[in-house]
Amino acid sequence: MTILEVQDLKTYYSTLMGDVKAVDDVRLRMDKGEALGLVGESGCGKTTLALAIMRLLPWNGRIAGGKIMLNDIDIVGLDDKTFDKEYRWKKMSYVFQGAMNALNPVFKVGAQIAEAITIHEDVENPEAMERARELFRLVGIDPERTTSFPHELSGGMKQRAMIAMALACNPDFIIADEPTTALDVIVQAQTLEVMRELQKKLGLTTMIITHDLSVVAQTCSTCAIMYAGNLVEYADINTIFSEPAHPYTKALIGAFPSIKEDRRELVSIAGVPPNLLHPPTGCRFNPRCPNRMDICSKEKPDYLELEDGHNAACHLLTKEG
Ligand code: SF4
Repeated sequence: MTILEVQDLKTYYSTLMGDVKAVDDVRLRMDKGEALGLVGESGCGKTTLALAIMRLLPWNGRIAGGKIMLNDIDIVGLDDKTFDKEYRWKKMSYVFQGAMNALNPVFKVGAQIAEAITIHEDVENPEAMERARELFRLVGIDPERTTSFPHELSGGMKQRAMIAMALACNPDFIIADEPTTALDVIVQAQTLEVMRELQKKLGLTTMIITHDLSVVAQTCSTCAIMYAGNLVEYADINTIFSEPAHPYTKALIGAFPSIKEDRRELVSIAGVPPNLLHPPTGCRFNPRCPNRMDICSKEKPDYLELEDGHNAACHLLTKEG
């Protein structure tokens, strides 16, 4: 069953110099229970895509075209009041990047979770506090810690408290933006384990935004690769790691350490992602692509279905290539 379908989404930021095309014609579908890793370098549009889905774009951001279907309803067209009341946090929620600093330092964590519940649901505070305690249990924190202030929790506990808050209103779909950044490797592993358990236990549909392929390998069933505002490849995890089709995906995997292969050096990708005020014509990866051809700077490649559940956009994969 499809939970989320993004259709030809364009999300732009207005600046004095013109529109920054941060997300341009993105198509993406997620099924119930899917754990999708959204991967790409910084500045490739991953967070903008997530903020557009949550309708949390900053003041100069706008959805310039396309649809975001959640359970077959186009949420782009909903008025703010309906979206706030019925969708955000109740049907989908967000674990913010740098979540450890997102908690209010002057309120106890349990009270912050209870507040999220009472704002969106018709329940009294004692019931909401009991839910906060249950949520703490669910993410592996002693419920007694609901009476702690954020500074009394470790970094890993704060991150798990933020995951608990995202679960407060039983959403179907959760976006976690760089959930393990700034955590040390041991706490990172514990946090990923909590996320895996929750996916299994609650049948959650999750989108995990990261630039770290090891996070995707540990927590996701599918992977979407984003470059310069475009989705360039989508497939299940095994296909992405064993048979990547797009040169950018291959380059990302080449830059990822492997204990199985006799690869002594990591290969970094030459250059940087383009300025999206003036993205390159044709394929946006063409200035950095080792397989570039004449057609690549002239025509944008179609986002093709190579086989069931595997899509990619590259002229090498078409007859013209
Ligand atoms: Fe490289 Fe051309 Fe494919 Fe773009 S379309 S990834 S430039 S080969």
